[in-house]
Amino acid sequence: MRLQVENLTFSYGECEAADNVCLHVEAGEFIGLIGPNGSGKSTVLNNIYRALTPDRGTITLDGENLLKMSHKRSALKLAVVGQENDVPFNFLVEEIVAMGRSPHKRLFDIDNAYDKYIVKHALAHLGMEDMAKRNYLNLSGGEKQRVIIARAIAQESDFFILDEPTNHLDISYQMQVFDFIKRLKVTVLSAIHDLNMAALYCDRLYVLKAGRIVLRGTPEEVFTPENIYGVYGVRSSVGKHPITGKTAITFLPAEIKEDSNDR
Ligand code: ADP
Ligand code: MG
Repeated sequence: MRLQVENLTFSYGECEAADNVCLHVEAGEFIGLIGPNGSGKSTVLNNIYRALTPDRGTITLDGENLLKMSHKRSALKLAVVGQENDVPFNFLVEEIVAMGRSPHKRLFDIDNAYDKYIVKHALAHLGMEDMAKRNYLNLSGGEKQRVIIARAIAQESDFFILDEPTNHLDISYQMQVFDFIKRLKVTVLSAIHDLNMAALYCDRLYVLKAGRIVLRGTPEEVFTPENIYGVYGVRSSVGKHPITGKTAITFLPAEIKEDSNDR
């Protein structure tokens, strides 16, 4: 077991955003955290990657109490690709990727040949080697997101925490990012907005609703029309896709009658 979260509870003032959340991630798993907007996905992930501190609960990473680990040590173990990757200053692409090396270094250490090699390699992995000298702020949304993923790769961690990493990316980049992360064979815990993407890439899912885990299981177990209606209030037809073999969901508009749904 790589990550174990037990009874994680967190409130923003009066607003309880995570309520006794329990989840675990085994080595090599790709785990999805899904649920409607505002259900607490980012709150749970922020507590795991230590941008927030739980009010109650325990989190262990590789058997160690994560909440007692130094920030540097947890940064070595967890690579984070957040939802909004605001970079306040206009760094070059290669400088941003080089920031992934910082948990490995002491303050004021300069980048050595190995750091430079890793940065170049990470950019090349994402087909971005030609963009190393570009200004980050001038890139498109998809390019920026690939830079942030390259930074996570440069960190050389084998556990990725992703918060809707492909939001606002068009479909080719969404697929590219998930395919790429899958090929890295790292352990992943990712909030995912798109249920079909979650079905395509995840081994198991946890479903949050109003701060609580209400469902858990494989995509096949979780994605039934009844469950989808219960969580999102939307009717759907669910089947196994003939090519991917994965669960595929078609959402049904209100005017389509129930009996035209063949399942
Ligand atoms: P999700 O990522 O699933 O969309 P969030 O974890 O961002 O959900 O939000 C969970 C709940 O906590 C929501 O009701 C949201 O309004 C609230 N919330 C999130 N961030 C803050 C904050 N900084 N201050 C107060 N409430 C917040
Ligand atoms: Mg969120």
